[in-house]
Amino acid sequence: MVQGAIIFTARKFNKWGKESVVSMKVTRRQFLKVTGATAASFALVDLGFDLQATASAAKELRIKNVTPTPTVCPYCASGCGLVIYAERDANGNFVKLLSVHGDPDNPINQGGACSKGAAMFNLREIYDERTGEQMINPKRVQKPLYRAPGSDKWEEKDWDWMLDRIAEKIKETRDSNFIHKEKLEDGSEIIVNRTERIASIGGSGLDNEECYILSKMMRALGVVYLETQARI
Ligand code: SF4
Repeated sequence: MVQGAIIFTARKFNKWGKESVVSMKVTRRQFLKVTGATAASFALVDLGFDLQATASAAKELRIKNVTPTPTVCPYCASGCGLVIYAERDANGNFVKLLSVHGDPDNPINQGGACSKGAAMFNLREIYDERTGEQMINPKRVQKPLYRAPGSDKWEEKDWDWMLDRIAEKIKETRDSNFIHKEKLEDGSEIIVNRTERIASIGGSGLDNEECYILSKMMRALGVVYLETQARI
């Protein structure tokens, strides 16, 4: 303690779990003014309790083995940044999802998240209605589903099958409906190289770079009906 002043120190954790020590110097007068409003805490300190150490230990336990992962909300074009907190074992293997919060460092949402974004937790895990136990969301689709033309049933397929099927259908549709040239009013022809039987609708999960690549690919195929939910 410095003469005439009291130094407070506390351990602080940022959102990535990194610890730092902060200290604050207060005069005896400031100290008495503040503690006058917190007589109960003062009494506990008088009795020998180290409240600072207790608070720090509790904080440490809550973030033990927790890893934060920054991501982007998939739900709308705002593109809010979120941080996913997950518990991991000593080997770094995923144990369970703990929470999803708005990322305070993201310039778009600055820590906020609408109710839909905040509910991203439930994409993967939910709480059992009867027991309250945390469990994997049974409705979560984890494999591609395919419904054949005219069928009312969905079939699970692997990604290779699905991507081959999509490529086949794109090629078949494009080849059978490709417009190479178009006639103008004066009877002359111009090359247009387009297909009007394929449309592309981008999802809100696409960022600027992905939209750029997608639009390049669609233009190369001759797709003219091209839309996306514009992103950040
Ligand atoms: S948190 Fe809400 S506003 Fe932000 S991207 Fe997600 S859905 Fe959109």
